[in-house]
Amino acid sequence: MIAATKTKIAPGRLLIDGQWFDGATEFDTINPATGDVLTQIASASAEDVDRAVVAARRAFEDRSGAWRKLSASERGRLIWKLADLVEKNIDELAELETLDNGKPIFESRYVDMPMVIDVLRYYAGWATKIHGETVNTFETAFTYTLREPVGVVGMIVPWNFPLLLASWKLGPALACGNTVVWKPASQTSLTTLRFGELAVEAGVPAGVLNIVTGPGEVGRAMVRHPGIEKIAFTGSTEVGKEIMRGAADSLKRITLELGGKSPNIVFADSDIDNAVKGAITGIFYGKGEVCNAGSRLFVESKVQDEFLEKLAVRAAKMRPADPLDPKTRMGAIVSQEQMQTVLGYIEAGKKEGAKLVAGGNRVSVDGGKGFFVEPTIFRDVRNDMKIAREEIFGPVLAILSFNDLDEVIEKANQNEYGLASAVWTRDIKKAHYVSRRLKAGTVWINTYGLMDASLPFGGYKSSGFGRELGARALEHYTETKSVWLNMG
Ligand code: NDP
Repeated sequence: MIAATKTKIAPGRLLIDGQWFDGATEFDTINPATGDVLTQIASASAEDVDRAVVAARRAFEDRSGAWRKLSASERGRLIWKLADLVEKNIDELAELETLDNGKPIFESRYVDMPMVIDVLRYYAGWATKIHGETVNTFETAFTYTLREPVGVVGMIVPWNFPLLLASWKLGPALACGNTVVWKPASQTSLTTLRFGELAVEAGVPAGVLNIVTGPGEVGRAMVRHPGIEKIAFTGSTEVGKEIMRGAADSLKRITLELGGKSPNIVFADSDIDNAVKGAITGIFYGKGEVCNAGSRLFVESKVQDEFLEKLAVRAAKMRPADPLDPKTRMGAIVSQEQMQTVLGYIEAGKKEGAKLVAGGNRVSVDGGKGFFVEPTIFRDVRNDMKIAREEIFGPVLAILSFNDLDEVIEKANQNEYGLASAVWTRDIKKAHYVSRRLKAGTVWINTYGLMDASLPFGGYKSSGFGRELGARALEHYTETKSVWLNMG
């Protein structure tokens, strides 16, 4: 029997200017592991978005207001305090994330939330280190640059890592002195709303952090709004393109972290057991609902049979189960709609002639109505098949084989996306050679999926542009101003 939550979840409201408001309408948020309604969430109207933007603008521009009066060091301490509060409430936040998204509690408690804390602390440290420089130009001039916050930042966040991907935006936005309007995905608003309460508790000044829940239309209103200077978006390539078109009118700054179809390349000279583990993590971690999932696995032909045998043994252990059980490694797909999308891709794979070697079906866990799909593996996949071209965003692995180095590099790059990639080999020269030639924002060598607050993450090609994490992200949250003083 899938465990019921210990927490009674209050209906979600909008956080605007430090106050909580009901929306004009509300919608249900569903537990994907049971299909049950968890609670109701307020749906923000265009007027609510406008009020949130006005509040964020006022907090940003009021020179004698609480936000502007904070020194960089005090701002850093406030972000650090947010991290402390996440840490203090880590069990509750992890449980909410699991209930809302269906991801195993093991992931929310020991990966997502710890990284939220790390990211916030990393950017708390940056708050005091963001500065311009003096530049020598002419004898008769004193010239220097200022790094100024861009203004009001609109954060539009997807459902796969709700609080984590928000922290990647919130940390640098606040460290640089911006104010934010934050829209979580409609499927997964719960941790955002709890974080909003923690922000109020931490003493984040009114208007600095506003939360507007609701459907994609809320995001659209943010993109259209002239009072927002920058949109930080993670989500589908399709919506990313729409945001880019919408942002053109007001020339908003945008960063887009979009989809992926990342190649995971296993050479015959690799440590096969480790590569098998990496392939499993690469595609089945987060139920495959991961932008950098290693969804195209290239295996050198001469080790393919051995590799597949070992892969099948490991995949069989990834049985979908109750996400709240600490032993579970495969949770529920985020929504019925996403589950249907994933099952549709599995059918497409079969029709196009790929060979199904594991999984392929929806499964019932404990006889319930949850949205669970078996870990699924196809072999004999070709790059031109739909399951190799398109982002599935589910636990479906496409295996392709290759015979030589240039062939696999060409095939790996033959895709519209370029978010991440991996290469498995004991030959260090080959590893670096392949890394240089892959068109992807991240290359992992003999590992998969490692992340750190300090290392930039983002895409090439249709995977978007701009970088999150690390010092590079700060550039997207500041403007550089050059100042000339005539000394002549
Ligand atoms: P979307 O790109 O639709 O959603 C991402 C965020 O954008 C959500 O907050 C969403 O709101 C919001 N949004 C939706 N439409 C608009 C719009 N027109 N203007 C502004 N904001 C908007 O992703 P989906 O949830 O629909 O997932 C579809 C596919 O996208 C997945 O199957 C996967 O392939 C890909 N995806 C990629 C992600 C990544 O990490 N790169 C993350 C999530 C999805 P709301 O949720 O309320 O609709």
